[in-house]
Amino acid sequence: VTGEFSAIADLRRLLAGPCAEGEIWIGDDAAVLQPYPGAWTLLAADTLVAGVHADLALTGLDDMGWKAMVASLSDIAAMGGHAGHALVTVATPPGTDLEMLYSGLAEASREYRCPIVGGDLTSSTELVVTVAVTGWCSGRPVLRNGASPGDSIWMAGRLGASAAGLRLLRGGGGTESDLARAHARPRPLLDAGRAARSAGASAMIDVSDGLLADLSHICEESAVGFRLTQVPAAEGATSQEALRGGEDFALVFCVADRAALADAFDGLPPPVELGECSSDPSERLVDGVTVDTAGWEHHW
Ligand SMILES: [Mg+2]
Repeated sequence: VTGEFSAIADLRRLLAGPCAEGEIWIGDDAAVLQPYPGAWTLLAADTLVAGVHADLALTGLDDMGWKAMVASLSDIAAMGGHAGHALVTVATPPGTDLEMLYSGLAEASREYRCPIVGGDLTSSTELVVTVAVTGWCSGRPVLRNGASPGDSIWMAGRLGASAAGLRLLRGGGGTESDLARAHARPRPLLDAGRAARSAGASAMIDVSDGLLADLSHICEESAVGFRLTQVPAAEGATSQEALRGGEDFALVFCVADRAALADAFDGLPPPVELGECSSDPSERLVDGVTVDTAGWEHHW
């Protein structure tokens, strides 16, 4: 059995030639390309598989379309970027309500001004939706590898809401609740990502697999540890859902100097301080207790 992250590491060796100077090809939220000096193009793709990432007994096809678009846009947000354009590829069993699926894709596309400009449609035994997006940055994008010991760790968005919403839906209730909505219609925090970038964030990632798992990716890439002192859960979510729940698409970022945060987030919900980066790369502390950081990971 191979885990997703070790498989990515193996494939990275196979695929990546010498990366062009100033570019990032594999291993961050989005690839960073420099078409010319001073311009940063972002590329990201995400795939949702019915039955793996979306339980169509609990959420609609339109929600699956929305979420596929949002998952990719969130990776652009995690670089501090602007959304560009999208390609949508759908592999589908016969009889799927494509109009419903594409209505959700189109809604997210309009909401976040990321026009769908092409893609592919093909048949399959399972419904698979892939969204590839471009994005751009007006300055250097925020990577995962720039955090230093002593940087403070911040979160924009909510933690645990999607997992709590899924719990409610599985329990047969709460379909109209704010939490169920957070599960069905998560939002990419593009404004907050750009605010963090302009405030000088040293590292950033979006919470797709769970706070602890995703923050650990920053730690691995930056060679720092973390000490969290508070992890606020969304109202109605448990502390475990806040620490480990996936698909919230909150942003976690680090800053060396917090002075610019208030101005950068003016007009946006203020980010919440979670703790700080430490110099021991193996340290993973929440309230002084070592935690297991495993999050959602595919195995095959
Ligand atoms: Mg990501």
